[in-house]
Amino acid sequence: MERTLVMVKPDAVRRNEVGEVIRRFEAAGLTIRALRMVCLERREAEGFYQVHRGRPFFESLTRFMSSGPTVAMVLEGPEAISRVRKLMGATDPAKAEPGTIRKDLATSIEQNAVHGSDSPESAAYEIPYFFSAVELCP
Ligand code: UDP
Ligand code: MG
Repeated sequence: MERTLVMVKPDAVRRNEVGEVIRRFEAAGLTIRALRMVCLERREAEGFYQVHRGRPFFESLTRFMSSGPTVAMVLEGPEAISRVRKLMGATDPAKAEPGTIRKDLATSIEQNAVHGSDSPESAAYEIPYFFSAVELCP
C-alpha cells in the first residue's frame, strides 16, 4: 500500500470539477484516506512548492495556487503515486494522453487542474503539509 497527496487546483475548483476529479481516482480503485478544502496563503503555496523555488514559473504558480480554494486529499492504493500520475497526465495538457484528467480538464501548463506527489519522498513531505496524524485514518 502506498499513499500520495493529491490536490484539485483552484482552476478546477472554480469550474466545479472537484467531483469529476475525485470520481476518476475512485473509479480507478484509489481510496480516499483524508480530504479537506484549503485556501493557501501565498507563503503556504511557496512552502508546498519549495522544490521549484527559483524556477521562472514559481512566482506565477504560487500566485495561482493561492488564488482560491483547493481540495487536498490523501489517496491510498498499491502504487498509488505512479497510478495517480498516470491518471493526471503530463504537466502540459497539450502533451497529456487522451483520457487523462489534464487532457480533459486543464487549460494551460500552469492551470492544470490537479497535483499529485511525484515520488515517495515528495509524498512524505506533502502529506503532513496538509494532514496531521489524527486526520489520517489508519
Ligand atoms: N508549471 C508551470 N510551468 C512550467 C512547469 C510547471 O506553470 O513550465 C506549474 C504547473 O502548475 C505544474 C507545477 O508548476 O503542475 C509543478 O511543476 P512540476 O514540474 O512539478 O509538474 P507536475 O509534477 O505538477 O506535473
Ligand atoms: Mg511535481
